[in-house]
Amino acid sequence: MRFNTRLLHEGVIREINGATLPPIYQSSAFDQETAEDLAGIFGNKKMGYCYTRVANPTITVFENRITKLEGGIGSVACSSGMAALSNALLNILQAGDEIISSASLYGGTIDLFRDIEAFGIKTNYVRNNDLEQIEAAFNERTKVVFAETIGNPCLDVTDIKKLAEIAHSHGVPLIVDNTTATPYLIKAIELGADIVVNSSSKYINGSSNSISGVLTDSGHFKWTREKYPILGDYVKFGPMAYIAKMRSGLFRNMGTCLSPFNAYLNVIGLETLGLRMDRQCSNALALATWLEETYPDITVNYPGLKSSKWHDIAEGQLKNGYGAILTIRVGSKERAFQIMNKLTIPYILSNIGDTKTLVVHPASTISLHSTPQELEDAGVYDDLIRISVGIEDVDDLIEDFRNALKGE
Ligand SMILES: *Cc1c(COP(=O)(O)O)cnc(C)c1O
Repeated sequence: MRFNTRLLHEGVIREINGATLPPIYQSSAFDQETAEDLAGIFGNKKMGYCYTRVANPTITVFENRITKLEGGIGSVACSSGMAALSNALLNILQAGDEIISSASLYGGTIDLFRDIEAFGIKTNYVRNNDLEQIEAAFNERTKVVFAETIGNPCLDVTDIKKLAEIAHSHGVPLIVDNTTATPYLIKAIELGADIVVNSSSKYINGSSNSISGVLTDSGHFKWTREKYPILGDYVKFGPMAYIAKMRSGLFRNMGTCLSPFNAYLNVIGLETLGLRMDRQCSNALALATWLEETYPDITVNYPGLKSSKWHDIAEGQLKNGYGAILTIRVGSKERAFQIMNKLTIPYILSNIGDTKTLVVHPASTISLHSTPQELEDAGVYDDLIRISVGIEDVDDLIEDFRNALKGE
């Protein structure tokens, strides 16, 4: 089955009264026939459900569908994108370990990397996806390479194939955050990523009705006890070592599980991911092109424009569109605020991936805690507006921007 068919038909539990959507198992715990059965589940000797903090059948449907879409061997759904990122990294890192990361990151992830310094985990940032600098940043403590597939809000497109090659030549995995692209635009695992994280609060859910995140393991990375002592006995699970440790370890013990109801909402949202992305990407390209052609005093940043520094990588790596986020630099913070306040269709809020168009001034909101250097690296300027383009009729969006930019 192809992508859009899979969105609708993969993982449906057909045996329950003919239901076409998974039932919401809003149950904290699960009864077993015998004491032996429950002991078997706890001892990882028997498949089954015992407690929703560990696993839940509705959540399994969502996880399985994401696993198929990303092309991995297993997924773990979490309470938020940040929870998924925390689990993805802390599953394999311990005090003394280091991360090499692209400096162009979502503000919350920069904050997280600062927080985990208290646990002895250090991050070395590399600017502008400079492959030579990445090569030079390795040392014997490096345990993971991290990047966003399309940086939010910098909109730099990461060359995943090259980054994966470098990471693997040093014997470490590449973890990517695929939130802004989704598996519809970028097949990160095919390109060489080992672990893919999505904040499913965004495009995967689509309508911004629940916070959630999900991580997917490719099963390709060869974990060894020597390099990753924190994996302990789990290495005996081979390709499943990473997911097995997570499900029985930090994920369950930190209590970062997703609510079954939110998993259900995500399954509904997923059905239209392809349709929405097609529309949102074409709207974004039309709006970006029009803004660039019409307003010489506004700098438009969008990977689909030839003027983007990352257009060539985008051409080679993205399928079905260039993403649905663009940024514009309008000259000053005052003008940015004025334009945002004059727009009538977009919501002013700090989110992306909604069916509705959203605008935000990153410097005063999501990147408020970043240092001047971090701001520069993340492509956040004082006169920058980020636009997450929705599924509206694009002519209405263009008209709204024309009115907001008229007669200032
Ligand atoms: C929103 C976002 C996150 C965090 O996800 P939450 O679901 O809000 O916790 C992480 N990475 C990127 C790129 C994001 O846009």
